[in-house]
Amino acid sequence: VDAKMVKICCIGAGYVGGPTMAVIALKCPSIEVVVVDISATRIAAWNSDQLPIYEPELEDVVKQCRGRNLFFSTDVEKHICDADIIFVSVNTPTKTRGLGAGKAADLTYWESAARMIADVSKSDKIVVEKSTVPVKTAEAIEKILTHNSKGINYQILSNPEFLAEGTAIQDLFNPDRVLIGGRETQEGRKAVQALKEVYANWVPEDRIITTNLWSAELSKLAANAFLAQRISSVNAISALCEATGANVSEVAYAVGKDSRIGPKFLNASVGFGGSCFQKDILNLVYICECNGLPEVANYWKQVIKINDYQKSRFVNRVVSSMFNTVSGKKIAVLGFAFKKDTGDTRETPAIDVCKGLLGDKAKISIYDPQVSEDQIQRDLAMNKFDWDHPIHLQPMSPTAVKEVTMTWDAYEAAKGAHGVCILTEWDEFKKLDYAKIFQNMQKPAFIFDGRNVVDPEKLREIGFIVYSIGKPLDPWLKDMPAVV
Ligand code: ADP
Repeated sequence: VDAKMVKICCIGAGYVGGPTMAVIALKCPSIEVVVVDISATRIAAWNSDQLPIYEPELEDVVKQCRGRNLFFSTDVEKHICDADIIFVSVNTPTKTRGLGAGKAADLTYWESAARMIADVSKSDKIVVEKSTVPVKTAEAIEKILTHNSKGINYQILSNPEFLAEGTAIQDLFNPDRVLIGGRETQEGRKAVQALKEVYANWVPEDRIITTNLWSAELSKLAANAFLAQRISSVNAISALCEATGANVSEVAYAVGKDSRIGPKFLNASVGFGGSCFQKDILNLVYICECNGLPEVANYWKQVIKINDYQKSRFVNRVVSSMFNTVSGKKIAVLGFAFKKDTGDTRETPAIDVCKGLLGDKAKISIYDPQVSEDQIQRDLAMNKFDWDHPIHLQPMSPTAVKEVTMTWDAYEAAKGAHGVCILTEWDEFKKLDYAKIFQNMQKPAFIFDGRNVVDPEKLREIGFIVYSIGKPLDPWLKDMPAVV
């Protein structure tokens, strides 16, 4: 890896691989970076003007490097063969069947990537785990590689990615830390150093942490579990605020002023989503159970249970305030992505909320600035698997959900609706003309703000009946208590 130009190959052109490699290419002009994927459509999109994922500033970074030292290709074998450092950022979903279903990570994609590396490599490689994986995956990968090595030396590193969707590029430019785990042998240290030098092109040395392999793997699971736990904690308090007349924003502000707690990540909402939090916690739970630690497993399980509770509580509020039925009523849903500034809908609370409302026979009209109708139909047609009782898994139902329509503007979605649910905190929802929305709605007109983006008092002046998570209840809602 020393004198000649370093070549990096990244397997998996997804939410992690794409942005990460684009930033490495931008910050390290002397390194050639090739991102490969088995999905030809994904690669074609990365090579087009319409990138496959939406992230602020991503397009700008890609355009600066693409064709210079950043390439996207489906020729997986060639680029693995040519590379010195191979990042693996393939998907690791939760297993839906077999041993550990509902909890354990499905390592099928990982294993096939590792076997591919073993098959095609002709020179020594540093193999870097980038996707979040269960602790000790590196060891398994190491075994696959060394048992098929043909005399080639493989060094396995764990370099978990901490970027947040919606702010991926800024997080990559200016990370709180970069974590690199490796073997504590001479070759292991050399490999860690080689990867450290890549990041040192733009990340200050004191933010690059090196650890053993397992610490690095576990740190990623632990960090996501802590983050999700903060949200479930403030959401649990939000339910108590509604019951007592406290205001969750005031409570969170006061709590967050304690420097040991800190102010970030304390917004009450309809629940967390995204591809990582639930998956990583389930994985952590599974690892605890496998290691004979049921108390620890149950502790973390509760974080997911509160999240599920928060979503069903929200649906119950909607239905109970509308005289206990939404059957045949039009409900507008503003925002479907799991958070603002992304088009990602994986595990978005909007799926559960919409399904809950559909279960009560509502007609739903959805507006989201970044999510396509196709995506929403796919999400709602898919049967959710029950993480707590994976035995009852049901097959997917392929039929489109016809009670759901999609609009390209919030006003259209709300026209003629009985209620509006705000499920993603897109900035534009703060600036809507709610008086205009009110005029075109059925009366009484309801707003259920699952992200605390609107000012409930202002909307009440317009005439809305407003529910905001964790805020003092509208008299109307006090008269129609939700059964939770
Ligand atoms: P993440 O959010 O972790 O980045 P994604 O699902 O967005 O996950 O991306 C993972 C990508 O990895 C997908 O585009 C998938 O096609 C790709 N992939 C999975 N297995 C392989 C493989 N063996 N070789 C190349 N690409 C793969």
